Amino acid sequence: MTVTTSAQSYGNYIAGAWRPATSGGTMENRNPANTDDLIGTFASSDAADVDAAITAAEEAFESWRITSPIARANILIKAAEILASRQNEIGRELTREEGKTLKEGIGETGRAIQILRYVAGEIQQPSGEHYPSMNPQTLLYTVREPLGPVAVITPWNFPIAIPAWKIAPAIGFGNTVVFKPASLTPLCAVRLVEALHDAGLPAGVVNLVTGSASKVGDPLVRDERITAISFTGSEQVGKELKKTVADRNTKLQLELGGKNPAIVLADADMDHALTHLVTGAMWSTGQKCTATSRAIVDRRIADELTSKLADRIRNLTVGDPLAGETQIGPVIDESAMQRIVGDIDKGRFEGAEVLAGGGRLSDNGRGSGYFVAPTLFGGVDPASMLGQQELFGPVLGVISVDGYDDAIAIANNVRYGLSASIFTRDLGKAMAFVRDIQAGIVHVNSETPGAEPQVPFGGYKSSSSYSREQGKASREFFTQTKTVYIDPPPGS
Ligand code: ADP
Repeated sequence: MTVTTSAQSYGNYIAGAWRPATSGGTMENRNPANTDDLIGTFASSDAADVDAAITAAEEAFESWRITSPIARANILIKAAEILASRQNEIGRELTREEGKTLKEGIGETGRAIQILRYVAGEIQQPSGEHYPSMNPQTLLYTVREPLGPVAVITPWNFPIAIPAWKIAPAIGFGNTVVFKPASLTPLCAVRLVEALHDAGLPAGVVNLVTGSASKVGDPLVRDERITAISFTGSEQVGKELKKTVADRNTKLQLELGGKNPAIVLADADMDHALTHLVTGAMWSTGQKCTATSRAIVDRRIADELTSKLADRIRNLTVGDPLAGETQIGPVIDESAMQRIVGDIDKGRFEGAEVLAGGGRLSDNGRGSGYFVAPTLFGGVDPASMLGQQELFGPVLGVISVDGYDDAIAIANNVRYGLSASIFTRDLGKAMAFVRDIQAGIVHVNSETPGAEPQVPFGGYKSSSSYSREQGKASREFFTQTKTVYIDPPPGS
């Protein structure tokens, strides 16, 4: 089916049909690598569309909640097949709208496919437990049941993988969804929903409403018919959501920021650590919540490592992400570019030394996009803005330390705790790190990013709301427990 209401114009998907915003409002979506490239026009929705979407989700829940998980799994598998048949095309669109390289765009689409397939299997796993009862005749067991209509609110940095990892388990476990994607990446949201529709998802099970945070996100989270909210985005918005639902019983899952450290001990394989520091910090233009933003390096190797790191970072190819040779694309939009460049200036002002990059790139055709040079700071004070604040861009700071104890103290001394790495050949130190680091995801001898669908994803401290996503953890969030006592009728 086609989702366009006219060429390059995309509507909302509510109750199984594509339609324009009730108000007729539209918004443009442009390529961050070249703002002359108009990707499409999308519905700029408001509370009326949100209301229609929640009503559709509520109505669909009545039959969807009792659909067999096997039937749901078949729809997810079919949707995965549809996405797989369009992987290169959708990956290219992802690159055009988000700015990561083509390889990453196609790779992320592949990840969404893998997630749908995984969830199709996970929802067919045993659910609930059988218990002994004090009464030997009583059949006593638990079942996990869906919650109802849930809100899925997603950021722009993984515009198809994050929606897939929230929506697939939400509907797989029998909930219905109102999906509000980031306003900067609505096309990937359309493509995912289109695949679910074409796979035979019944009307109203997933409803897509595009538009701004204030006109779509806000009425969505305030609506009391929404039983749960799964949100990935900024810490500030996550905190607001907590307040919004404080006086009602809404389940909340928050995936927020990170200030992820990679510790490099003196015995590490330096070449290996360098490779992972560069990819961990710079791939996807540093716009991953799990990106490495602090290299915490033993002082004995810090000069050599920093100088080699600066060389590698200076040599990265920054440009049109659709071009084969490009390693680093643009940042997402003008305000992100200005914020990151401003933070780089603040870092200089704080006294850290710029060893690579250090500002906007606008030569060689890059002036019509939002390009920031991959930037390395040396001599970062762990207590400074550069040492503490999530920058969400291609910026890495090196902090020199005196051995493991100093490194772990500095690594933990931030408000976040999403992911963390250590590079060492010392098994004892690696195991101590796994024990001591305050992070939800821990890597030994590999970069801080990475999220496989079969394991829980989430952070410690201000990075998450304790609940986890993906893997078996998704069942925890998207279902609730019912305890059942069944006794035989008297005389049987
Ligand atoms: P990012 O800019 O990294 O995407 P945000 O936290 O600003 O992070 O936004 C993440 C998602 O949450 C987006 O879809 C955004 O529109 C939505 N959002 C932002 N503010 C609110 C809010 N107050 N209520 C509901 N949704 C919101």
